[in-house]
Amino acid sequence: MAYIPYGFVQKQDGIFVEPQQAEVVKEIFQRYLNGNSLGGIADFLFKQGILSSTGQERWTRPAISKLLSNSKYIGYIISFEDYFAVQVDKGNRSNIDEETNQRKATRYSSQNVLSGLLACAECGAHYRHITRPSGEVVWRCANKVEHGKKICKNAPSISEDALKNYLCTKLNMAEWNEESIKNSIERILIQSNGGLEIEYKHEMKYNLEY
Ligand SMILES: [Zn+2]
Repeated sequence: MAYIPYGFVQKQDGIFVEPQQAEVVKEIFQRYLNGNSLGGIADFLFKQGILSSTGQERWTRPAISKLLSNSKYIGYIISFEDYFAVQVDKGNRSNIDEETNQRKATRYSSQNVLSGLLACAECGAHYRHITRPSGEVVWRCANKVEHGKKICKNAPSISEDALKNYLCTKLNMAEWNEESIKNSIERILIQSNGGLEIEYKHEMKYNLEY
């Protein structure tokens, strides 16, 4: 049997939102957005006698963190706006060392995050990053890098700075945030005219019914 996330229930004729669990999911998102820590949310759930997703008396912090990044809730239990706001918040919090209150070193590079997401609209190949002698990082269609114009004729090169600025503006992020990009975006198609087509995770079909 397929894994059914907390908040949903499998019935004979399909998968449905489970109203009581859905309320708990909403409560967890709301509390996180209000600034509660994962531990604070776990304490709250324990005091309310709400069993964990695995039926334990106490929710663990990793379980709550995982729930907060589960894109299956989008559109069914949580709005995309709230989901996205939580991903931005998670990214910001994970960048701050709780003991020193200082910003931590970046945990993974933007190159890793972007390389799984960028694809060429013309030929379907992934985009690769290339560092120019000036130090500028640009992204180019892998087919164009390897075969010149033989397979892919018009795919543009895109500067990483421009790409990040565009995504920040488009997604209303104050600064570049790896985690929210990773958790919210499925794919970014780069058109021959330089335009970007963003596929968000909430546009995926889950085959769930109400
Ligand atoms: Zn291409």
